[in-house]
Amino acid sequence: MMLIYVKGFKSSYDIEHLTRLFYPDAAITANGTHYPKTECVVARKSKNKIMVGVRTKDKTYVRVGKVNLAEKPSFTASAMLYHLLKQITGKRPSWGMLTGVRPVRLIHDMWAEGKTDAEISNRFLTSFDVTDEKYKLAMGTAKLQKQVMCGSNVKSYSLYVSIPFCPSRCSYCSFVSRTTAGSQKLIQPYVDKLCLEIAEISRVAQQNDLHLHTIYIGGGTPTALSAAQLRQVMQAIKENFDIARAEEYTVEAGRPDCTDEEKLSIIKEMGATRVSINPQTLNDTVLKAIGRRHSVQDVIDCYHIARKLGHNNINMDLIAGLPLDTVDSFAKSLQGVIALAPENITVHTLTLKRASNLVIEHSPDAYDDVSKMLEYNRLLGQAGYAPYYLYRQKNTLDNLENTGFAKPGFEGLYNIYIMEEVHSILSAGAGGVTKLKSPAENRIERIFNHKYPLEYTENFAEMLRRKQQITTFFSQLSENEV
Ligand code: SF4
Repeated sequence: MMLIYVKGFKSSYDIEHLTRLFYPDAAITANGTHYPKTECVVARKSKNKIMVGVRTKDKTYVRVGKVNLAEKPSFTASAMLYHLLKQITGKRPSWGMLTGVRPVRLIHDMWAEGKTDAEISNRFLTSFDVTDEKYKLAMGTAKLQKQVMCGSNVKSYSLYVSIPFCPSRCSYCSFVSRTTAGSQKLIQPYVDKLCLEIAEISRVAQQNDLHLHTIYIGGGTPTALSAAQLRQVMQAIKENFDIARAEEYTVEAGRPDCTDEEKLSIIKEMGATRVSINPQTLNDTVLKAIGRRHSVQDVIDCYHIARKLGHNNINMDLIAGLPLDTVDSFAKSLQGVIALAPENITVHTLTLKRASNLVIEHSPDAYDDVSKMLEYNRLLGQAGYAPYYLYRQKNTLDNLENTGFAKPGFEGLYNIYIMEEVHSILSAGAGGVTKLKSPAENRIERIFNHKYPLEYTENFAEMLRRKQQITTFFSQLSENEV
């Protein structure tokens, strides 16, 4: 296994993540005085010099450069290391040396600094070595976001409500989600507490004169609740927030094995304006391989029921790189979803997190074709969809991206707001993270809820107490910001 040895930098973060673009399993060593004797990547900084080196089985490569006072030393070292690793491995990552999860945010930040499109293009293509295709994807997404996001200010927020239950666990899942069968006794107390937290968030939002932009009920799978429980949660939202003024109200109705006509009717009746019905694949063999207990036909039927009930803004998710999927089968899934004509299609790349059973059961080597799968995203452009949000996650196959595509006028605003950190997000429920945005300082303050439903319900008084930090945050914002 490749080891990473870093010395003399404030943080090893950039160098570690850069190395893992080429050696995904590389592990950091403790800082010591000697390099590891095995295969390793080394980055060292002295007063004026930076040295990077790579020791492979057969050879040792070393590059030495000067500390550049105009940039962070770890950036200089990462750039030197990137070019060295590219030469040694013969691999060219499509996002170049960008390791961050928000390439589009980088463009917004550069615009805010007054950079021109030509300067941004030069930075992406030359300094970061991003491919032309990925740069165009990021720039196209940023331009569309600029058109559709407007009107947020320091008092803007979106509401997130977490339902951490699912009918069964997908093999690739790393979310904190419990199966409904294993949590029967827990769900009703959870729903009762969640409704109280929703009311508390409303009270705190009013106290601080905050303005609601969007609502998102996610999870987990919100439709894993019973119809009565789903109604109870949505009723709590309706009673406590002026949903008619929200720009968008999304409910994830992700899985057809727990989403029926009754629940889709409740979602419509209670004021949601957008639903997400997620096939992940239109291949029954792949669905079985990932632990789904429904068929492709079930997804299609669920979609048609939603349409029949008047849902006119539907998102469908696909995942590239699932076990047993092939490039051809992925292309067929994408074509099948395009033929259904939902307003949004989100194409994810499989992420292999440690918590996922997939890491244990399948070798990541089986998914070399994932970048070929993403090339089929061009079909979305041909069908009238445009990319409106984009993000990357650590441990994504081939370090590729997740992209949301939309028909004009149907961009999922919550997705943009959370990903580009446009305004504050107030979160209710287990695993919820409230993010308070201070625009002047470009800073996000986070308040964490307990991760697991049982911890959440048992420590509920503490969850409510933590919400007081929202008032503290807004009362401390400078007058200029407010
Ligand atoms: S539906 Fe989503 S949250 Fe639930 S188990 Fe599957 S991947 Fe995880």
